[in-house]
Amino acid sequence: MKTIQMVDLQTQYQRIKSEIDTGIREVIDSTEFVKGPKVSQFQEHLQTWTGSRHIIPVGNGTDALQIALMSLGLQRGDEVITPTFTFIATAEVVALLGLTPVVVDVEWDTMNISVEAIRRAITPRTKAIVPVHLFGQCANMEAIMDIAKEHHLYVIEDACQAIGAQYTFSDGTTRQAGTMGHIGCTSFFPSKNLGCYGDGGAIYTQDDALAERMRAIANHGMVVRYHHDYIGVNSRLDAIQAAVLDAKLPHLHEYILSRQHAAARYDEALGGDERLILPGRDAHSTHVFHQYTLRVVGRDRDALKEQLLQAGIPAMVYYPVPLHMQKAYQDPRYQEGDFPVAERLAQCVLSLPMHTELDDEQLQYIIEHVLA
Ligand SMILES: *Cc1c(COP(=O)(O)O)cnc(C)c1O
Repeated sequence: MKTIQMVDLQTQYQRIKSEIDTGIREVIDSTEFVKGPKVSQFQEHLQTWTGSRHIIPVGNGTDALQIALMSLGLQRGDEVITPTFTFIATAEVVALLGLTPVVVDVEWDTMNISVEAIRRAITPRTKAIVPVHLFGQCANMEAIMDIAKEHHLYVIEDACQAIGAQYTFSDGTTRQAGTMGHIGCTSFFPSKNLGCYGDGGAIYTQDDALAERMRAIANHGMVVRYHHDYIGVNSRLDAIQAAVLDAKLPHLHEYILSRQHAAARYDEALGGDERLILPGRDAHSTHVFHQYTLRVVGRDRDALKEQLLQAGIPAMVYYPVPLHMQKAYQDPRYQEGDFPVAERLAQCVLSLPMHTELDDEQLQYIIEHVLA
């Protein structure tokens, strides 16, 4: 059996090596390393793939979130609501920009931001909501967009883990993760569902004015060369990374199917073990399984993780500490115990190996050891 990894980028590369190598070679031969045709080609292909009116390629997913927030004309102290059970990037950029992160609890089953908690957190200073489509499944976007409309708030979707997830609204319309809010952000970090070979990210929007402003902010706030209308940053998708992404994009659909296949095997085999709770599914969203995350309730999570490790199976805890309990984000408004669902999840979640290259033998081996 092949060694089991949390993510197997090597095998994935070997399967499409000539496509990737050709793309990278084209960039080197052209010497157009910054911006250039590869980046615009990938941008157009991603636009078609996602159905987004605008795509702005940037340096990474965290920059995408930062540029999105910079484009909204917010003032110091304005409040931005984000879940407390997630990766740090959302709260980080809010804090960096002098805005106030307001963290809220998540739902036990989907592990996504709680709509009820958002409602309770709104104050006159609230300006935006940043839902995270955690582990590959969309948050409750219909309710979130309704709340935003009612209170005149912006919605920035953190779709870094959910590229390709489909959300169905009650009127039957279907949209992709990242294309429902005013702005959406994604990451092409190597382990993400569409990953490059370094850092990369993109911003989505359906709004022409926001697109123009964000494109300028990502390029030193420049609209006309050497005329700076905004305080900007330098955040670009590298052309070599764009070549990798453009070679991988045609395979993204099959990559998602492989992840869903692995998840279905896990579900089927692990569903009968009452010490485990399977990842909950939202009725309105497909799940693209950036992670397959169990809740370990009837046995010691850390002992199970250690036991798997001993058997050569990597397993990870995403995320062990909620934002409100992080040292850098200590805030007198929040204490341990304030967000019971997030705190309980941090104690019991365990993500199993999940990638596009898991074969049946590996899945069977993992399953046997999880059930042991
Ligand atoms: C990966 C990730 C990010 C940040 O993306 P980078 O490209 O690593 O900057 C932000 N939010 C979430 C939920 C992520 O998973």
